[in-house]
Amino acid sequence: MRTESKNNNPNKLSLKYSESFEDSKHIKLSGQYDLFIGGKWVKAKKYFDTINPANEEILAKVAYANEKDVDAAVNSAEKAYNKVWKNLSPKARGKYIFRIARILQEKAREFSIIESMDVGKPIKESKSFDIPTAVSHFFYYAGWADKLEYACHGKEPKSIGVVGQIVPWNFPLLIATWKIAPALACGNTIVIKPSKTTPLTLYKLAEIIQEAEIPEGVVNIISGDGFTGSCIVKHPKVKKIAFTGSTDVGKYIMRTIADTDKKLTLELGGKAANIVFEDASIDDAVEGIIKGIYFNQGEVCCAGSRLLVQESIKDTLIKKLENRINNLIVGNPLNKNTDVGAINSEEQLDTINELIKSGVDEGATLFQSKCKLPNKGYWCRPSLFSNVAQSHRIANEEIFGPVLAVLTFRTPDEAVEKANNTCYGLSAGIWTDKGSKALKIMRKIKAGVIWTNTFNKFSPASPFGGYKESGFGREGGIQGIKEYLM
Ligand code: NAD
Repeated sequence: MRTESKNNNPNKLSLKYSESFEDSKHIKLSGQYDLFIGGKWVKAKKYFDTINPANEEILAKVAYANEKDVDAAVNSAEKAYNKVWKNLSPKARGKYIFRIARILQEKAREFSIIESMDVGKPIKESKSFDIPTAVSHFFYYAGWADKLEYACHGKEPKSIGVVGQIVPWNFPLLIATWKIAPALACGNTIVIKPSKTTPLTLYKLAEIIQEAEIPEGVVNIISGDGFTGSCIVKHPKVKKIAFTGSTDVGKYIMRTIADTDKKLTLELGGKAANIVFEDASIDDAVEGIIKGIYFNQGEVCCAGSRLLVQESIKDTLIKKLENRINNLIVGNPLNKNTDVGAINSEEQLDTINELIKSGVDEGATLFQSKCKLPNKGYWCRPSLFSNVAQSHRIANEEIFGPVLAVLTFRTPDEAVEKANNTCYGLSAGIWTDKGSKALKIMRKIKAGVIWTNTFNKFSPASPFGGYKESGFGREGGIQGIKEYLM
């Protein structure tokens, strides 16, 4: 509901949305989450806290998996692979995955609230994007389970065995689903590790896996830190690693398994160019740019973090963006009107602030939203840098926060050259009125996903992945199937 806020100046009427909180009283979180190994809850030697980054309150204690726990999880996955899952008919595998999809769909509201509390993301995003997209991935790959030969061009599809999956904290359930659903459809068993700061929705998924009566050991969920992840990577019985996270850790994984025959997919960082030509619909572009960089607080691998704008429209576009930034509602993620929530951790907030400072020190011009920030929790004002040079750190490094760097170009060739001037190659956006121009530019940009006159659109049927230091391999679509077959 919109209310008129009291204002002494009658000519300056400001309209404000009243707060509307998602009811979270019914959310059932255990005080403690043990490891999920062999279909059972297994105690660990050590536990750590997972907190709500919007208020710093502890949400639950979570098990820390050590080397022995990783070994137990891998052995349970291997046993389930040999004794049950690889021998099951494809139709039966599909039936189990459909069950997970249906139960998750029924519990979508509960999952959305927990994801928002653990990550800090706005409830409107977890409700309209994270959880429904996760559900659609399960449905999509359930449908593939008995049609795998069509993905293999007539060859007999062969599963790999035990796969190790390691995911980051920005879309914890969704990115896990990109990995779990195709792996199961192809007949593999899984050991998956969520990020230390966001383990809750994966443990809630473990409850669904029990409810769906998935055979014991087919999916094992173990939380921990980088050491836990490295134990999964090094385990000799793990035949494939699917990793989403930072480029540095991706490189470490590549080096670690270089002398093994493990299969590998890496979904890593990005520094996407969002290119706006002077013939674009400016107001549509403004919405796309805002969505491209402030969605999920900018903690998005494919965020449109480098805005390349044609010089003739630079001033108009920046003015409109600044207006729009000032209207973004920043605050409690469970308020249904919130546009930008909390940064996931103090550590990430420090990284973002350090890069913002570097932008100012190197001479770019900083504009930040004038919004009021909550007293507790980790918050960053939506920020925009203009007068950015290609050499600036904010134009090169992945900030993974709500910070947009604006650069300009004069000709289409210059736009392409600047867009490709990055070590990354995950995504890009093009805004123009001319379809032919978009197609021409698209072919010259080295990025795994390119959106035209839109941004951050996902479908389980389309592949997602990068080039260069953004990694290799694809998730989603038929391509996502091939990554989980021999
Ligand atoms: P991160 O690399 O620090 O951690 C990712 C996961 O790897 C976590 O579960 C972590 O515990 C684990 N890990 C850390 N060190 C490890 C090691 N030595 N061996 C094995 N596992 C280890 O990344 P993050 O901070 O959680 O996530 C942010 C990064 O993820 C950003 O760079 C972002 O671009 C990237 N990301 C990429 C995609 C994509 O699809 N390309 C999607 C989301 C996030």
